[in-house]
Amino acid sequence: MKRIGVLTSGGDSPGMNAAIRAVVRKAIYHNLEIYGIYYGYAGLINGDIKKLEIGSVGDIIHRGGTMLYTARCEEFKTLEGQKKGIEQLEKFGIEALVVIGGDGSFRGAEKLTEHGFPTIGVPGTIDNDISGTDYTIGFDTALNTVINAIDKIRDTATSHERTYVIEVMGRDAGDIALWSGLADGAESILIPEENYSMNDVVQRLMKGHERGKKHSIIVVAEGAGSGVEIAKEIKKRTNLETRVTVLGHIQRGGSPTASDRVLASRLGAYAVEILLDGKAGKMVGIEKNVLVSHDIDDALSRKHQIDQTMFKLSKELSI
Ligand code: ADP
Repeated sequence: MKRIGVLTSGGDSPGMNAAIRAVVRKAIYHNLEIYGIYYGYAGLINGDIKKLEIGSVGDIIHRGGTMLYTARCEEFKTLEGQKKGIEQLEKFGIEALVVIGGDGSFRGAEKLTEHGFPTIGVPGTIDNDISGTDYTIGFDTALNTVINAIDKIRDTATSHERTYVIEVMGRDAGDIALWSGLADGAESILIPEENYSMNDVVQRLMKGHERGKKHSIIVVAEGAGSGVEIAKEIKKRTNLETRVTVLGHIQRGGSPTASDRVLASRLGAYAVEILLDGKAGKMVGIEKNVLVSHDIDDALSRKHQIDQTMFKLSKELSI
């Protein structure tokens, strides 16, 4: 193998740059040529492809976002789009590809491998919702962004004796809500993976209120319901001053934490290593701090599970 490519796709996450840097530098370390594909699968179809050098990835390890940009591309979901992508890769003499992205991007990577083009997936998403890895690149940074925000909201919540509902990202996955709720002592954590009752939410609130608690925090993952609606319902049932904050896209940005930079560096480099070993159609991950690889189709067929012991603990500690 002489020449490989790298792209970022789907939702961006902090640490994608560190992963790109690792892929590029590890490839060059092993005397491979490395090409960057800009704007994800859209750029692949359009041939938006340039050679990268050691210096191309200088000064990006600490930056959020992705220097290769990202995109969503409906055309790549079609066989025709995928064939066009492979034609471009062949035109540039690229023999294998590293795709940094979430589960949607992994489906694209799986398709390329099925068509005979060796591709490896690196999990980059703030949601931590990919099976086959304990953590995804960007999760830790997003979590810290949420915690910083909740800490600030907690100050004003205490001053005004208010209840705050904080809506965080996670359409299908509750990890951001669960971890940030546990880290910030939330009264209730509402996640898409677990049923909840408003009676329970209200009971917990009232119990705290009765023992003189000045503030209450409820963290809700967007997939578990609308923060605005939940706040309205709480106000209606309790008459407590209730406010809502939807954190939105600030969770996607910012300088990656040390954990995310280290994870991205390890996973990016490992992706190149397993390509050199002749592997394809694999995703790289980390389990119990050991680098692992799994078949992408296997990983995609299994749903990421929340840690039930953590969910139980969050309830036990917020009595
Ligand atoms: P993420 O990778 O963050 O989950 P998306 O779900 O939007 O983001 O997927 C990113 C891109 O991956 C899509 O815009 C599309 O180009 C490609 N993709 C998603 N699903 C498939 C699929 N089933 N087959 C081929 N490509 C896909």
